Amino acid sequence: MKPEFTIPVVINPPQTPAVRAGAMAHSRPFVAKAEHQQALGFPGELVDDWHDKALAKMKQLLDSSRALQVFMDSCVKCGACADKCHYFLGTADPNNMPVARQDLLRAVYRRYFTFAGRWLPWLVGAVDLTEDVLREWYAYYHQCSECRRCSVYCPFGIDTAEVTMAGREILASVGIGQKYSNEIIGKVHDIGNNLGLKPPALAHTLEELAEEVSEDAGAPVAFPLDENGAEILLVTPSADFFAEPHVDGLIGYAKVFHRAGISWTLSSHASEAANFGLFVGSHAHMKKVAERVREAALELGVKRIVVGECGHAWRVAYSYWNTLIGPFDFLDPNYPAPQHICEVTHDLIHRGALSFDKSIHDDKVITFHDSCNVARASNMGGVPGGQFILPRDIIRACCNHFVDMRDDAIGEATYCCGGGGGLLTDDLVELRVKGALPRMQALREVIDEHGVTHMAAICAICKSQFGKVMPYYEFDMDMVVSLHQLVGDALILDRGAH
Ligand code: SF4
Ligand code: SF4
Repeated sequence: MKPEFTIPVVINPPQTPAVRAGAMAHSRPFVAKAEHQQALGFPGELVDDWHDKALAKMKQLLDSSRALQVFMDSCVKCGACADKCHYFLGTADPNNMPVARQDLLRAVYRRYFTFAGRWLPWLVGAVDLTEDVLREWYAYYHQCSECRRCSVYCPFGIDTAEVTMAGREILASVGIGQKYSNEIIGKVHDIGNNLGLKPPALAHTLEELAEEVSEDAGAPVAFPLDENGAEILLVTPSADFFAEPHVDGLIGYAKVFHRAGISWTLSSHASEAANFGLFVGSHAHMKKVAERVREAALELGVKRIVVGECGHAWRVAYSYWNTLIGPFDFLDPNYPAPQHICEVTHDLIHRGALSFDKSIHDDKVITFHDSCNVARASNMGGVPGGQFILPRDIIRACCNHFVDMRDDAIGEATYCCGGGGGLLTDDLVELRVKGALPRMQALREVIDEHGVTHMAAICAICKSQFGKVMPYYEFDMDMVVSLHQLVGDALILDRGAH
């Protein structure tokens, strides 16, 4: 079936589009049903006193976040961020320029919270808060994946992701929450994971996986669940349990643990690493979702907590867990808490505990997509830029042919896949396809110049997003692989064989 929108043309070198005002004004995700909003403590529908409530919420956020206050006051309209957002580059809608996205909130801030805005609103671009403004916020704060690329280029470090989170939090507080994110948070609270996979179904899935993998590998590769006294609790996105190519990553982690002789376990209580509390801008929900991990770690008596391949989960774990659910003084102090699965594998490679048959990947030329949340909101290995170095070292350790995409599309400058920040939903498919354009352009370039056949990733959202949007650009969706799939396929499991 033909899509009902125009797919952007992949052009290299990329060009900044001519602006088309209102091009994406129609794009908005479904609003959550009343019961899903109420279950999270939000009003079920737009409240009668929404105007006062929204302003009160804005005041509360400004009072509690010095950063938000500074971001509202410090933009000098230099334009450095204007062409840095993948959603602007893919849609040409000027409201998707980061500075314009901030201004949606800033204009209301000025009207009600600054002297000039109160008395001379027309002079300072201040606007009244109306239902039309709320609608515009809902549309454009759901066209930002909170990826923080724009903030890298802002001379003042203004973080549009924080503005987007504030916008969404205000919207949720007056009864306009987003269906996709709110339903998922509800499922995690009720059942323990994004997919609503109940413990018996999870146990059954893991048993079947263990049988299949052990038979294929000729070695007893286990996928333990709720194993008391294991050394490691692995917390991973629930997509890893069966979706492709995610599950191949989980198989890779299991093979690494097996080969290194490290005992590990998953938890039915904390069977999800993803934390959509980040996407709705709610610290309260972020904390509640994260707390399951601490509870599971204590209950199972593990010594280490390891996070699987999930970009925003690692951002939450790395940047927030210590304050949300720390201290981790009950864990082994010889390891980082939390630890990323790439840190585990990298360390084992470094110590010579893993060996690979790299030739298994000789039919491939690999490139690597840096997930935005890992790239700009975390670290790995405790060294500057470790989040870029470790995954590439691992790929090079198990594959002979690796090339990077161009510099302004990787590392700190990486582009979001187009589906992050709670936007990985079919009601936003047009936005997702268009927002993927910069990554598709960079990928096209390395395919044409270096014959790249596969793109590895360490984020569940990126993998799902690429699987969905790549066919629109006539790429094979099987090009996307989990990093630990490359590891698992090349790993020599037999200790005597190296
Ligand atoms: S945070 Fe990312 S998605 Fe949001 S405006 Fe900046 S570049 Fe665009
Ligand atoms: S780069 Fe920073 S200061 Fe310049 S327009 Fe963008 S947000 Fe404003």
